[in-house]
Amino acid sequence: MIVFDLQCRDGGEIFEAWFRSSTEYEEQRAAGIVQCPFCQSANVEKAPMAPRLPRKGSDNPLARLAALQSEMLKGSRWVGDRFAETARAMHAGEMEREQVHGNATLEQAKSLVDEGVPVAPLPLPVRPPSQIN
Ligand SMILES: [Zn+2]
Repeated sequence: MIVFDLQCRDGGEIFEAWFRSSTEYEEQRAAGIVQCPFCQSANVEKAPMAPRLPRKGSDNPLARLAALQSEMLKGSRWVGDRFAETARAMHAGEMEREQVHGNATLEQAKSLVDEGVPVAPLPLPVRPPSQIN
């Protein structure tokens, strides 16, 4: 069953009507069986769709950022406080390169950048996986 919002072209009333299928609606309308419940006019058509409003909160920029960040970190390994040494070791070729994220002090971050280690600050603080459970 599908429901359509129909509009009476004579009176302008909008009402819901159920049909087994879109085809059944077309057939019944062509046959004049679909009638306005208010004035019994068979001159009805599908009402223009009401614009769908976004759910509350989905437009929150912080929520969008958080979603983006969790997408970014999907393939990334949490290394916690060992971030600076891990990033340095990977940069030096002592470790296999992979995407990692973790904690670094401002000092550590600055010296990593000075050493040419490609690091980027995350837009939002990350909770270590051990704290998520
Ligand atoms: Zn009507």
